[in-house]
Amino acid sequence: MTYVSVELRQIVIQRAQGRCEYCRYPEAFAFLTFEIEHIVAEKHGGETASANLAWACPHCNRFKGTDLGSLDPETGQLTPFFNPRTQEWHKHFNLQDARILPLTPEGRVTVAVLRFNLPERLQERRQLLDANAY
Ligand SMILES: [Zn+2]
Repeated sequence: MTYVSVELRQIVIQRAQGRCEYCRYPEAFAFLTFEIEHIVAEKHGGETASANLAWACPHCNRFKGTDLGSLDPETGQLTPFFNPRTQEWHKHFNLQDARILPLTPEGRVTVAVLRFNLPERLQERRQLLDANAY
């Protein structure tokens, strides 16, 4: 993986305001360290620059990997993932109880591939919601 300078790392972390930019999990309550994520992976020509980097929890980062998108489970169309640099979270997702529901095609492929609603992730999110921490 490409070296990310301390300055660039700080920009990414501060911009994310302590949350995973995909699932919105608060880093302060995470057991594992969050990671710098290339929105467009380097193998697809993505640059190590502020506009192509996101702060992600290890779950979202692992499930996303170097993928750029997937087939929309509703239409079968090849669809890019939600892009935290160019799109607004609340326009693509809606939190209902502890479940993250997609509102758009980009939301649908992101929820599906990044496995936002796995039982253990739902349980963690529910506990955070109960503690007013999500
Ligand atoms: Zn996440």
